[in-house]
This record gives sequence, structure tokens and C-alpha cells, in this order.
Amino acid sequence: MSLPFKMAGVMGWPVAHSRSPIIHNHWLSKYNIQGAYGLFPVQPGHLDAAIKGMLALGIVGSNVTIPHKVEAMKLMDHVDPLAKRMGAINTIVITEEGELQGFNNDGFGYIQSLKDANPNWSANAGPICVLGAGGAARAIVLSLLDQGAKEIRLMNRTQSKADALAAEFGQDGPYKGAIKVYPWSEREEALDSVSLLVNTTNQGMHGQADLDIRLERLPKEAMVSDAIYIPLETPLLKAAAARGHVTVSGLGMLLNQARPAFKAWFGVLPEITPELRQMIIATL
Ligand code: NAP
Repeated sequence: MSLPFKMAGVMGWPVAHSRSPIIHNHWLSKYNIQGAYGLFPVQPGHLDAAIKGMLALGIVGSNVTIPHKVEAMKLMDHVDPLAKRMGAINTIVITEEGELQGFNNDGFGYIQSLKDANPNWSANAGPICVLGAGGAARAIVLSLLDQGAKEIRLMNRTQSKADALAAEFGQDGPYKGAIKVYPWSEREEALDSVSLLVNTTNQGMHGQADLDIRLERLPKEAMVSDAIYIPLETPLLKAAAARGHVTVSGLGMLLNQARPAFKAWFGVLPEITPELRQMIIATL
């Protein structure tokens, strides 16, 4: 039985900063869909109860953000194979039969944000430099490999995490040897002949220190992207733009990951319009 009024939301702790309600409530109103998208502040330790509560309340699903992305995956009835490989979910869909399905659209959102910035973008245009080895890096590295990246230079302040990620994704099969781990201290040398530089660390985010890197060795035609969207233009993107690089902020990743989730909950694949972008930018 299809519900006349559908509710969804985002579970996280903290969650008040999330811009997802602006995105989904804008689309609900634009497509004349009876529904609402809310903020669900779910403390660590309450995740299981929160997910069961969604089921009991007839909620159609939710996004999942820090710190629940890994734990939530374990509570699903079915996990999409891509999310399984990423080891985390960012979207829960509850079917009419009450089945909990887990997805991860972060990588899709990231790749689409690059294609929006450059429709001719190719993952195989040259080596790609990825800074960071946390949750965002997992989604981004795996998606870049799936898109055909042949060489990913991965570096992280804590090198053991980069080593573990490279071992997991690049050990055997089609991606064998595709991820090369560099010491964090060699991040500037690693920019030689790179076609894309990606920051997935939290450095440069509002309240954090700037990312400590000089771009002198980065080829002029390289694209520079940052997973961060607060601020919209991080010091890294500002420095890259000043050198003439095409830059891509994390806002495109955020907006694009929301599209398939909205489709799954509400039945319409929504559009990202300049108006929607402006609504978010006005809050940053
Ligand atoms: P995470 O799992 O906590 O990873 C944080 C990363 O930042 C780790 O690689 C960590 O390195 C690195 N880091 C922290 N402090 C550092 C420092 N002082 N110097 C160098 N590196 C440092 O977080 P996450 O979920 O991957 O998120 C990372 C960023 O991506 C956040 O800014 C988040 O907002 C953004 N993000 C954006 C989207 C989007 O839709 N646009 C989606 C997801 C995430 P260590 O391993 O050494 O600690």
C-alpha cells in the first residue's frame, strides 16, 4: 500500500548542521509530493532502536551520516553490492514489505560532480592523487577505480590507514597495483604528472587548519576537487583556482548523492538546479 504522506530524514550525531533537509524538502515541494524530510539526532548506541523505530513509524528511509555509516550497514536485511565493497552505507530504503535496504551513493555523487564540472572528464586521463584515507576516501577511491582509474596515489597522515585501504581495494583482481601509497611527507612530489587532485581529509573545513600543501608541481591542466563544502571554496580550491585549475567543491557530491535516494523514497529522479545550489550556498 503506497503511503499518502511519506517521511524520510537523516540520522547522525551531531546532525543539526546537515543541509540534506533543505535539499529534499525543496524537491518535495517542487515535485508536489506529500512528504517531509527531517533531522534525526541519533546518539551512538541508539542506532538499532532508531532503525527499528523508523520501521514502526512507517518512515520510508533515511540518510545515514557520521558516526553511523559502518554500524548501520550491519543492521540491514539487504546491502547493495557497491555499499558492501565500500564497507559503509549512507542511505537506508525501507520497502513496502518492511525490508531494510542499504546503499552508498557518496561515490556516485562524487563522480557525477566531476562530470558536471567537465563532461569530458575521464578517470584514466593520468595519475590521480587522493589525500586522506577515511570514510569519504573509501567511497571516492573505489568509485575512481570503477570508473577506470589506472593509478591512484594515496597518502594519509596516518600511513597505516592508506596501506590498509590499498591492500583491501588494490590487492588482486582488476585493480591489482592500481593504488600506490606515498608517505604523507611526499604529497607535493606526488603531484607530478597528476590529472586530478582530491582532498578527502577534513583539513580546510570550517574550524580546521588549512590543508598543508603547495601546488607548484601540479600540472596546469589538472582538476582539483575537495570533498569539503563548508566553506564552499576551501583554501586548497582557492589556491588552485588562482593557478587556473578547474576546481570542484564538495557541494556537487552532496547534491548528486541525494538524487538516487530521493528517487528511491519518493519515486522521482530530481534535478539539481541553480536555484537549489543557491539555497544551500546561502546557508554556508
Ligand atoms: P574521516 O573518516 O574522519 O577521515 C578524516 C580524514 O582526515 C582522515 O584521512 C584523517 O587522517 C584526515 N585528517 C584529520 N586531521 C588531519 C590533519 N591534521 N592533517 C592531515 N590529515 C588529517 O572523515 P570522512 O567521513 O572521510 O570525511 C572527510 C571530509 O569529507 C570531511 O570534511 C567531510 O565533511 C567530507 N565529506 C563530504 C561529503 C560530501 O557529500 N561532500 C561526504 C562525506 C564526507 P588520519 O587517518 O591520519 O586521522
